[in-house]
Amino acid sequence: MVDGKFATSISCMDGRIQIPVNDWIKKNYSVDYVDTITEPGVEKKISENIDIEQIKSKAEISIYKHKSGMIVISGHHDCAGNPVSKEEHQSQIRKSICSIKSWNMSVEVIGIWINDKWEIEKIKE
Ligand SMILES: [Zn+2]
Repeated sequence: MVDGKFATSISCMDGRIQIPVNDWIKKNYSVDYVDTITEPGVEKKISENIDIEQIKSKAEISIYKHKSGMIVISGHHDCAGNPVSKEEHQSQIRKSICSIKSWNMSVEVIGIWINDKWEIEKIKE
């Protein structure tokens, strides 16, 4: 049994984004804790079906053991693991949202972009 409300973040491993992403999710979705699954350039991986099973199995722990009610997939400016244009990042994030929704975990799925000022922008689907 766990106390507190959880969300699940699937993000890049980049150390510059972890605190802004965590704070934004806590503030905007009134959660106490953010479980964080990291891979370099993770939105590229999910949008191209690379390493999906291990990412999904980590998300399942957060959803089923911590009762997380949402998954936040993100991408960010100046990503060493996925050096593509902002437009391409955002396209990959949109594809990743669809892919994660297809996991049928009955949770809300949203996408966010961390811009060149390390601010969060919600991705419009
Ligand atoms: Zn990155």
